[in-house]
Amino acid sequence: MKKKDEEASILENLFEGVYFVDQDRTITSWNSGAQQITGFSSSEVVHRHCYDNILNHVDENGSALCFDGCPLHATMEDGKARSTNVYLQHKDGHRVPVIVKALPIHNNQGDITGAVEIFTEIQNEKSFRSNFERLQKEASEDALTGIPNRKYLLALIESKLREYKAVGVSFGLCFIDIDHFKNINDTYGHETGDEILKLLVRTISLSLRKNDIIGRLGGEEFVVLVSDVQAEDLIKVSEKIRSLIENSKLRHHEHELSMTISMGSTLVNPKDNTESILQRADLLMYHSKNTGRNKVSLG
Ligand code: GH3
Ligand code: MG
Ligand code: MG
Repeated sequence: MKKKDEEASILENLFEGVYFVDQDRTITSWNSGAQQITGFSSSEVVHRHCYDNILNHVDENGSALCFDGCPLHATMEDGKARSTNVYLQHKDGHRVPVIVKALPIHNNQGDITGAVEIFTEIQNEKSFRSNFERLQKEASEDALTGIPNRKYLLALIESKLREYKAVGVSFGLCFIDIDHFKNINDTYGHETGDEILKLLVRTISLSLRKNDIIGRLGGEEFVVLVSDVQAEDLIKVSEKIRSLIENSKLRHHEHELSMTISMGSTLVNPKDNTESILQRADLLMYHSKNTGRNKVSLG
């Protein structure tokens, strides 16, 4: 491989973004790392000036650097390499924190003929973000089943109520309680009980429409929020859930364990708050328990 080709191939294989400018700060080359980080391909930027409204570097105070404080410009002026943290603008418009290194390029006579900018995404920003997302997820998710926990579920109900009161989008709430769950735990052990809970969540989640949500209120009690629904559909959805659970089986060694649920389903009304709608559905669920279990009561 010729030296030039070899250099080009190395540049293309770097994770870092690398671009070269001439003395006028016209971009003369742009590697795939630069494309990865910025979203701009080489054909979109080569032959343009780096200050032509492309990357719009700003510092953390939001000050634009292209005309006053451009590291490439400064490096071509004083011949010194420099490194600085900037936020470049991705092609999609968002800001990406990067560490930028600017190095001068010389000809054989030692004159500065251009500069190269090497930039890398600042990873700790990213891991900060994912750490935050992880903590947020942990705070709202039920650890066993991965669905909204009680706290998040109550917030979801509140938000549905606000939507209903503001723009009249109706919703239904189904209260679900597993029948004789204590017996399952006592007979097959707590771990098997946990498997039953996961199986129930999986079955119900897969049966729901995109905008409907299941959350865990606690223990073996769940709530399904059914979006934009009238009484007729709410009973259908509830019956479907009840019947799917009755027809699910946990394979446990050579046994197949089945389970049933009792449900109370209700539509939101204008006087409701989070407590009242939950309480109404809970009472309906108890009615299902008291009249034989494996039942839906609608009210
Ligand atoms: P009913 O038909 O009247 O609802 O009877 P039940 O046995 O389901 O109701 P009860 O409230 O007496 O028992 C609920 C049981 O759920 C007791 C508790 O140990 C069990 N449980 C609560 N949370 C979990 C859990 O996370 N995992 C397991 N395996 N069991 C749980
Ligand atoms: Mg219970
Ligand atoms: Mg129960």
